Amino acid sequence: MSELYNNSESDKKKAQLLFLLTFVLSNKGYASTHNLLAPVLGKVHAKFPTPVEFKAVSNCKPHSHNTPLSTIICLHKDCLPQTTRAGLSAFVQVFSISNVIEFLIHLPGILKRKKSINQIINGLPMDSSARLALSVSTYVIIYKSLVRFFMRLFDPLLRKPSSFDDIVCSPLVPPFLAGLLAGPALLIDGDQPRRIMISVYILSKSLQFTYNALRQNRIIPKMPWWWGSWLLFPISSSQLISAYLLHPDIFPSSYDKFITSRSKIYINPRPSDFPDTMPWPTGREIVDRIAILSSLYFPEFYSPKLHGRDVPPLPDNLKPIQPIWEIAHPAHSKMMCAMLHHDEPSCLVTYTKFIAKEGVNSLKFMGMIYTISLLFRGKSLIERLVMKKIITQVLNNAVPEIFKGATFITMAIATAWALICGFQNVLPNKFMPISRIYLNGFISGLWVLVESPKRRLDIGMYSLRLSIELLWKLLVKKGKIRNIRNGEVIYFSLAMAMIMTIYKNKPKSISSPYIRIALSRLLGE
Ligand SMILES: [Zn+2]
Ligand SMILES: [Zn+2]
Repeated sequence: MSELYNNSESDKKKAQLLFLLTFVLSNKGYASTHNLLAPVLGKVHAKFPTPVEFKAVSNCKPHSHNTPLSTIICLHKDCLPQTTRAGLSAFVQVFSISNVIEFLIHLPGILKRKKSINQIINGLPMDSSARLALSVSTYVIIYKSLVRFFMRLFDPLLRKPSSFDDIVCSPLVPPFLAGLLAGPALLIDGDQPRRIMISVYILSKSLQFTYNALRQNRIIPKMPWWWGSWLLFPISSSQLISAYLLHPDIFPSSYDKFITSRSKIYINPRPSDFPDTMPWPTGREIVDRIAILSSLYFPEFYSPKLHGRDVPPLPDNLKPIQPIWEIAHPAHSKMMCAMLHHDEPSCLVTYTKFIAKEGVNSLKFMGMIYTISLLFRGKSLIERLVMKKIITQVLNNAVPEIFKGATFITMAIATAWALICGFQNVLPNKFMPISRIYLNGFISGLWVLVESPKRRLDIGMYSLRLSIELLWKLLVKKGKIRNIRNGEVIYFSLAMAMIMTIYKNKPKSISSPYIRIALSRLLGE
């Protein structure tokens, strides 16, 4: 009798333990772990419950959705156990991917300093990756629990017929509210610059998907033929160029360096024969004077070489440029041109010189970018190698892509510079002195049209993200909005709410297959 009692007691405990395991492992996961460990378990004569037993235990609990709250702790295999499993798997996935990315980022530096594998692994920011992974997995757990809660709370079948057309019964509401309320989980990630990067990325994607969904539902009417994603780049370019020239304090320094280093024809470095003891303005000092000269309505240039001491004295804010004006070609008539291309009086010749010089650099740059992207597409490359078509494939794809990319970069930057000169010649001096910079950015951004439509969208979305970030900083700088502490979480939550609503109701509007796959993997669906 006592043996029987013990047996049933231990069976009960076994079943309880097995049930706890369903919070970590799915039936499939248990079966594959069991198969994997079978040889080892056979050797030590240990007997573990079979996958069939596991499945029986995992299926034993019924749904308990009597009240909205009870859905959160419902022990049915598709409710709480599935949610915790998804959370755990999201943690493992994000933690691993984040460490792999960190490893790849630090690889070149590591190779140079010849570190051992142990040193490399010890150097990985595991804490930071763990916090990011924890924040994603918490989001998943809260989102999945709240979706069940709101679906039960707003279930149209449980409402009185009179309130059927109630807006909250719309299938859009539960994922929206769940996606929104799970948003603060992002705060678990302590790295604020990374939080801002993620939030801006998610925001730009949510705008794109919402637009797609509204187009599919015909809420946004059919647009004229010229309307398209190609407009994204000129519009954001107009904001980027103006921020580069007018608000360098909020402009990302990496892009500042990228443009300045590619514009040596306009941002003249110290001439090689110029003595080190003599002052020469820095690149930023030159760029900053463009806005000042514009606000002074593009003053005339009086060459010190011709007029000597008769040249009117410069205001203090223009003094840093004096060394350039002193050696500028006397044929210049505008201070702006004498600053930007001091030794060449013709704006057009400078423009062509720029294209010739930077065109070659851009070709090299795009060649490098294309090679890296080829490495990422390694699998299809191997397939092509097998088919012995590699040379024709590379020639057919790479050469036009590299040329288009190089033309786009060179001509967009060249045109932006040339228009600073060009507008002076066509527009009256007092006509839109500062706001013409926006027009300049838009026109030079039109060079995106040389790229293929898919690349136009990629480039447009990328610059839109930068543009959103800059607009936010600009509004904060102008005091239009207050920089709320952790404010990025607000737009992250709203953007995730939109994405989750679309994912649940119109998954096809999520046009990026990568994001669709990432969402289904993270949510375990
Ligand atoms: Zn349930
Ligand atoms: Zn000029």
